Amino acid sequence: MFEYIKPSGLTFPTLVKRTSTTTIVLHHSGTTSATLKSMHEYHLSKGMNGLAYNIVVYKDGTVYWGRGLDIVGGHTSDTKVNKVSVGICAIGNFETETMGDVQKDMLSRVIIDLLAYYPSIKVIEGHKQVTSTDCPGKNFPLAQMIALQNGSISTGGSNTGGNTGSSGSSDLLKEGQSGAKITQLQSQLKSIGYSLGEVDGIFGPKTKAAVVAFQKAMGVETDGIVGPITIGALNQVIAKPTLKDRSKGFAVRQLQNLLTKRGFSLGAVDGIFGPKTEAAVKKFQTASKIGIDGIVGVQTWGALYK
Ligand SMILES: [Zn+2]
Repeated sequence: MFEYIKPSGLTFPTLVKRTSTTTIVLHHSGTTSATLKSMHEYHLSKGMNGLAYNIVVYKDGTVYWGRGLDIVGGHTSDTKVNKVSVGICAIGNFETETMGDVQKDMLSRVIIDLLAYYPSIKVIEGHKQVTSTDCPGKNFPLAQMIALQNGSISTGGSNTGGNTGSSGSSDLLKEGQSGAKITQLQSQLKSIGYSLGEVDGIFGPKTKAAVVAFQKAMGVETDGIVGPITIGALNQVIAKPTLKDRSKGFAVRQLQNLLTKRGFSLGAVDGIFGPKTEAAVKKFQTASKIGIDGIVGVQTWGALYK
């Protein structure tokens, strides 16, 4: 899932494993340019345990591990928060700069993937919501990143649909391409109910139509190009995570769409598992003669895709 994140190559004095993960804390470097190494050395010089962040997102969309995925960070002055959070730093001074689309898309991808990896994450917040600081800066797309928790993407006026890749167009899947990545995309879309004809490894008009339909269902920009956000949403949906009261995200959107399609109405498809969704799940479970607990696990997912 995190194969696009590069190792830091840094040496840390000590690393402590995190045992609980409930929060994502977002930071900026506060400088126009910085590198892993410069931040690592700066944090060491301050008597800290080296680079304080778990993950760092560069302006060109390159993503690096800092301390690592499941390590306690040192990114806020509140050790209680550090113990339960993943700290992500975006390089830049967003008090004065505006974040470019490439960096914004990859930051979104990282957050979407973390939400899928840690269903226990309940809070996405800026550093300034934890401690008195300007970090991550007034121009940081904080509201947009927080909204990812509901599986809601607003591209904030940009027209890229979250589909600017980390190192340019080579990371995007789009019409006209072929190969193993397209085969994988096609089988994944098929496995979650999108018909696109034969799985042939060729991104033709039918595959594009399926991608657009998926993007529409997920509430992301419908450009038919598979970039970081679309891949992130797809990963969340194909993971078929256990969903219950107060779950959020793209998998909930998928659940809501599937229930609606089968005639179990639940109001708006909003990516939030509330009382109406729970009631619809129970009705579906009753109709399918499976255990009625209002929780969507392996059995209920199986019945929904039947
Ligand atoms: Zn910060």
